[in-house]
Amino acid sequence: MERVWVGIGSNMLNPQQQVDRAIWSISKLPMTRLVNFSSYYRSLPLGDKNQPDFLNAIIILDTNLSPKSLLSHMQYIERKQGRIRSLNSLIWQPRTLDLDILLFGKYFIYTPELTIPHHGMLNREFVLYPLMALDNNLIFPDGRVITDIVKTVPKNGLDFWKE
Ligand code: ATP
Ligand code: CA
Ligand code: CA
Repeated sequence: MERVWVGIGSNMLNPQQQVDRAIWSISKLPMTRLVNFSSYYRSLPLGDKNQPDFLNAIIILDTNLSPKSLLSHMQYIERKQGRIRSLNSLIWQPRTLDLDILLFGKYFIYTPELTIPHHGMLNREFVLYPLMALDNNLIFPDGRVITDIVKTVPKNGLDFWKE
C-alpha cells in the first residue's frame, strides 16, 4: 500500500462540479482508499492567460494499484469528463479536468509516460500551498520538507475558490 498525492485542475464547464465528480470517481477506484482532500483553490492559468481561472485541489489516496495502472485510471476519468487532447494543441489550454500524480510513496519514476515526482510541482503555487495545508509535515522523496519549498514560491494570487 502506497500513499499517493494527486493534483486536480479544471477551468471549464462548472469546475466545482467537475472536481466534485472527479473526487467521487477516484473514491470508487479498485484497491484504493480516499484518505483526504484539500479545500478548493482559485489560481491564475499557466500558459495562455486569456482563459478562465483554474479551480485546483489536492487529494490523498492509499492504493495498491501500480503507478502505471493509477495513471490509466486517471486518464479514463479525464476522458469520461470530456477532456479532449488534440494532437497539435499547445499545452496548458482550458480543460474540463486534469489529474496529475504528484507523489507516489517514495518512488522516483522517469519513463516517457510517467514522471514522479510530477515535473511541475516544485514551482507551482496551486500545488504547494494546498499540499502544505493538508500536511504541514510533508517530506518529499528527496528529503526536502514542504515548509521550505513553499518559501521559494510566491502565492501569485492563489486564493480559496468562492462562488
Ligand atoms: P503539466 O504536466 O505541465 O501539468 P498537463 O497536465 O497539461 O501539463 P497533460 O496533457 O495532462 O499535461 O499530460 C501530458 C502527459 O503527461 C500525459 O500523457 C502523461 O502520460 C504524462 N505524465 C507524465 N508524468 C505524469 C504524472 N506524474 N501525472 C500525470 N501525467 C503524467
Ligand atoms: Ca497538469
Ligand atoms: Ca496532466
